[in-house]
Amino acid sequence: MIYSEQKPWEEIASYLSEDESLFVLGCGGCAAASGSGGEEQVEELTRKLTHEGWTVTGSKVIDFLCNKGLVGIRLARISDKIESADSILGACCGIGIQAVGKIVDNQVHPANDTVSMGHFHGAWPSEETCERCGECLLEYTGGLCPLTVCTKGLLNGACGGSDEGECEVEPGRPCGWDLIYNRLKDIDRLDLLTTYNDPKPREKYEKEPEMDQRHSLFWAIEAEEVEESE
Ligand code: SF4
Ligand code: SF4
Repeated sequence: MIYSEQKPWEEIASYLSEDESLFVLGCGGCAAASGSGGEEQVEELTRKLTHEGWTVTGSKVIDFLCNKGLVGIRLARISDKIESADSILGACCGIGIQAVGKIVDNQVHPANDTVSMGHFHGAWPSEETCERCGECLLEYTGGLCPLTVCTKGLLNGACGGSDEGECEVEPGRPCGWDLIYNRLKDIDRLDLLTTYNDPKPREKYEKEPEMDQRHSLFWAIEAEEVEESE
């Protein structure tokens, strides 16, 4: 199970200064089990947004936002509400934000930080990957993870070797920062490239031993069963 935690409200609100309206998406899979993206958290985010003056065009909790096939179908049914929102706020792990960003034209803001993967890489294993850095940067990179999409994991733009959109380390592989630039251009947010991303603190990568127990998708159910049998 991928474990994610909700970012502080002040940080989430700071992402939304360009937007007047939002659609709130939660994930009924790992994020719900983490207590960071289920019905309760989506309702609370919607309440806070509305209270602070944003228009919420709608909200939805979908099982496994990392499952692009399923999510594409579910979002198509509510496309009017999604398209009428300036952007989407996603209460889910980094893989879910990346997957939704591949499906919609809107900017997708991350409401959560991913802190543990639990040996799971999403229900639709694809190019969306996460290094569970604990301080999600997807807000500043158009929903593409710089730690995984760039071969060197650079946080603040391309290295000197990027050549016509190709990575210098792996010829034939697209330069991750070229992809990030193009996505930011598509969503009209090239201004985000001026944000400096601090190096990642090592302690965020060092997980508590119990995080490694979250091996399966059904971790929360299994933990409950163990507790009941004791
Ligand atoms: S920035 Fe990348 S590694 Fe860090 S939480 Fe977000 S998706 Fe995961
Ligand atoms: S060429 Fe692009 S993807 Fe490759 S290491 Fe440099 S910045 Fe990263």
